[in-house]
Amino acid sequence: MIVKSLVLKNYRNHTNTRLVFSDRFNIIYGDNGQGKTNILEAIYLCASGRSHRTAKDSELIKFGCDSFSINANVFNIGSLEKDIEIKYYENQKNKLKINEIPIKKIGALMGNLYAVLFSPEDLFIVKQGPTERRRFVDITLSQIRPSYFYNLQQLTKILKQRNTLLKNINSNPKLMDTVDIWNIRLAEVAASIITARRTFSKMLSNLAESQHNFLTEKSEKISFDYKCSFQITEDDDKNKIQNLYIKSLEKTLSRDIILGYTTMGPHRDDYDIMVNGKSLKLFGSQGQQRSAVLSLKIAEIELIKRETEQYPVLLLDDVMSELDNNRQKYLMESIKEVQTFVTCTSTEHFENLLSGESNFFKIVGGN
Ligand code: ATP
Ligand code: MG
Repeated sequence: MIVKSLVLKNYRNHTNTRLVFSDRFNIIYGDNGQGKTNILEAIYLCASGRSHRTAKDSELIKFGCDSFSINANVFNIGSLEKDIEIKYYENQKNKLKINEIPIKKIGALMGNLYAVLFSPEDLFIVKQGPTERRRFVDITLSQIRPSYFYNLQQLTKILKQRNTLLKNINSNPKLMDTVDIWNIRLAEVAASIITARRTFSKMLSNLAESQHNFLTEKSEKISFDYKCSFQITEDDDKNKIQNLYIKSLEKTLSRDIILGYTTMGPHRDDYDIMVNGKSLKLFGSQGQQRSAVLSLKIAEIELIKRETEQYPVLLLDDVMSELDNNRQKYLMESIKEVQTFVTCTSTEHFENLLSGESNFFKIVGGN
């Protein structure tokens, strides 16, 4: 996929920024706080429907203004060009258009642009808690499978309703009769999410393993394993998982009522990232953790390509300076067919790494 051009109006510190991109490398450089990451964030928003830095769209509006807009012209192989438009007015929902046609659901945005973002914060995937790992998987899966995104939205809704029910049962014991209905609804959506996560993790793990073999000259074997919050086996199909989940919800019901929330389910899943069979979070050195994230990110690009037959665009936010020479070269080798956007404070770093056509954009104060 290729983002041909981008227009930002009153988006963060960009009043009216128009950029025409190279199909290969786009180096967005400038001093700190000038608006480089804001450009990557806008591209990412077009692909995933959310900013990687905030859940509040109102923060994206330029200070003192009441709306922002993003227009991205995207080209993907085997299909027509697409104009993605996102407009947001304070206190209203996003208004989305694809080729001038309004779309109602944010899920319909998915699949028009695939993007992989790689920033220093991605180290959190390894270092921090399960939320970061779920987020990593959920965002990628949502891009390549809109149905997964809808299921996640459903999951959040149903969990909210079930949790309200749990909180009210003590004061209104009659509500107990409705728990089964909520368990069934929850388990149906959960089983779809769980099977998707299980398949995704296996694919990602295999791809990351071959990347990592190459990067570490076979001295390290990486794995990325899905850990469902209740016991399932590899052969369990969706129906079986649904039933297993209902059983575990029944088992934990009394605890859930005391706590007032659902303690088991996809919102509690995790992923084990291991190197040579040992937890990377607990035993990996900083360098090993960085290498693992690099392998996972390259695997993510490959996975999107396999699933969608399109390479995603790659957004590298401040990562080049964090990688040593070998890893920089390795990354560059791996993304030969990927349109890449790089932010940096100085271009010195790149001149000997870049091959092919590159556009340079100097950003000063949102211009
Ligand atoms: P660094 O090199 O430090 O990462 P950067 O060039 O990537 O910097 P960005 O994160 O893109 O910087 O932009 C930060 C700038 O955008 C800051 O000056 C910040 O004040 C400004 N900014 C953020 N949100 C808004 C907003 N809603 N309205 C106006 N300006 C904003
Ligand atoms: Mg930045």
